[in-house]
Amino acid sequence: MSAPDLSVAATFSAQTVGAVVMSVLLLAFNRQYRKEYLFHWTLGWAASAVFHFARGIAMLLGESHPARIPLMVISSEAGCLLIAWFGFGVFELVRRRPVRLLDARNILIALGVAGAVAWLAPGVREAISAIVFVLTALVLWQKRKQREGVGFLVLGAAFFMSGAIAPLALVRVSPYIGYLDFLLQTVMGVGMIACLLEDEREAAELATVEIEHLAYHDALTGLPNRPLFIDRLIVGLAQAARNERHLAVFFLDLDRFKDINDSLGHSTGDQLLKEAADRIRHCVREGDTVARFGGDEFTLLVPNIDNVDDAAKIAQKIIETLKIPFFINDRELFVTTSVGVSIYPNDGADPETLVRNADTAMYRAKDQGRDNYQLYAPAMNARALERLALETMLRKALSQKELVLYYQPLVNVATRSIDGLEALIRWRHPELGLLSPANFISVAEMSGLIIPIGEWVLRTACKQVRAWHRRLDHPITIAVNLSARQFQAPDLVGQVRRALDESGLPPECLELEITESSAMQNSDNTIYTLRELKGLGVRIAMDDFGTGYSSLNYLKRFPIDTLKLDQMFVREVLTEQSDAAIVSAVIAMSHSLDLVVVAEGVETEAQFEFLRSQGCDRIQGFLYSAPLAAEQLEKYLLGKRTAV
Ligand code: C2E
Ligand code: MG
Ligand code: MG
Repeated sequence: MSAPDLSVAATFSAQTVGAVVMSVLLLAFNRQYRKEYLFHWTLGWAASAVFHFARGIAMLLGESHPARIPLMVISSEAGCLLIAWFGFGVFELVRRRPVRLLDARNILIALGVAGAVAWLAPGVREAISAIVFVLTALVLWQKRKQREGVGFLVLGAAFFMSGAIAPLALVRVSPYIGYLDFLLQTVMGVGMIACLLEDEREAAELATVEIEHLAYHDALTGLPNRPLFIDRLIVGLAQAARNERHLAVFFLDLDRFKDINDSLGHSTGDQLLKEAADRIRHCVREGDTVARFGGDEFTLLVPNIDNVDDAAKIAQKIIETLKIPFFINDRELFVTTSVGVSIYPNDGADPETLVRNADTAMYRAKDQGRDNYQLYAPAMNARALERLALETMLRKALSQKELVLYYQPLVNVATRSIDGLEALIRWRHPELGLLSPANFISVAEMSGLIIPIGEWVLRTACKQVRAWHRRLDHPITIAVNLSARQFQAPDLVGQVRRALDESGLPPECLELEITESSAMQNSDNTIYTLRELKGLGVRIAMDDFGTGYSSLNYLKRFPIDTLKLDQMFVREVLTEQSDAAIVSAVIAMSHSLDLVVVAEGVETEAQFEFLRSQGCDRIQGFLYSAPLAAEQLEKYLLGKRTAV
């Protein structure tokens, strides 16, 4: 073997060994880090090893050896493929995404074909390699600022130089080209490892930022969460104290969000929260903080307000903005909001007090019928405590049998005889005396206590009326009021069925009263439940008709049998022409829909006469009797059943 052959053998074997070492090294890294670019570079280095090995052997064997051609083909193929694999790796490193499978396949086929012919036409492979490597180097140069560190630069320089000297391999002017090639190969390897390390460090940094963000932000809306809000409030308070400025804390709660969530599903609920969060964010300025406290509760911190009026304006703006209908999953959703506001220094000087007072004011806004804002006033705290105490007492009232039912007769207008009763709850409070539902039903609804209370009312009323049926031999009906909350109980239909079974009351004697506003909430769900209830054979009445969102459409959609005209219309029926007109129109319309009409709150004979002349079916009111306790009513029934 001659001297130049030896030097060729030495450089080719060094390059082969170098490429094998690199491909083994990157393979090991890839096992650990699982990156597409490491995988492609590993393939590239393996191809490089094959390329150098086959080429070296072919050269050593000499021109005439029969094995030379297959070796040259192999080397040419490997030489072309390595260009593709190195290129893919760099693309993936820079773009942070894998190459598309289809693109990769097409490029590999093209280079495979090029490789098959390149051994015949010297210079083709070298030209491709020069173009691709120089382009790769340019891309790396352009993107060098994307990343801190020297990886892109070193790798870019190695690609550039390899591209630049590729054509020289054709002439092989000197064995030093081989040494230079080996050197560049080494630099390229170092560059790749540097890129990997920098990539990993950046991923770790990003993960840290992400974790920090997650710890201080709400995942759904991306808004700051409670801890970050409190942090900002602490800072805001310090600044407000230093500059002697006011600061406002708002507590927002979407009204009846739970109904939307329960009836339309959580994904709609989530979408609504996201869009609501966006709208709130757009209502405020850069330096203000909007946070999500959990569920449908949001808070807002506005540092530097001039006066209370400013806070009121912001609250009103938020309420108006959230009132614009939302379009979610092809549905139009109407949302209202209750807002409470507390102001530093008037309503507190520390974060906890300010947030608590804003929350209390928000509850006050809910009490006031929702869809409004309330500025905190110290008396509210007393009220909140009262409400809490009431809730605790009410919980006990149920178990200690302090709740009782009163019954009010419903009178048939044609026969003037009692043919039904309405059960109305009362609370015999040991200290406060007899409390009317106005004093405690809203607390029962908000706390959810209405569900066990409602079940108790149903069972007691059914049992009582069944007992009267036996005693009086007269099948009167019983009407029981249902709250909207009871429709959310998983087993309302089951409760009604059990009350009927247990008492033996015929289902047609039970009438369930719902109000328009409670029926409107969550209407699809309500209609479904009402149909099931009707399936049991019970009747459904629309209570307080005319006070809610009256809509004839609802009368058609809801499977109701009876319409109870609210006492508001009856009261003025003889003095207000418009009320008289409404009453006669509603009666006529109800009859055309085959509904029984009951007029509530009839107190005078004149009212009774008017209603009778209009064809009203039943009346209920003090004219005949106020609601009475069971014992009194029994006497009344026994004495008056036929006399009235
Ligand atoms: P409602 O179902 O519309 O009941 C009729 C109300 O009108 C009763 O008030 C009754 O006492 C009153 N009333 C009857 N006749 C007259 C009259 O001639 N003049 C006047 N001014 N008022 C009359 P009450 O018993 O205070 O009940 C108020 C509301 O509380 C009920 O309105 C009903 O919505 C609710 N409620 C009562 N009991 C229950 C219950 O067991 N469950 C639920 N969820 N709500 C109930
Ligand atoms: Mg009623
Ligand atoms: Mg009513």
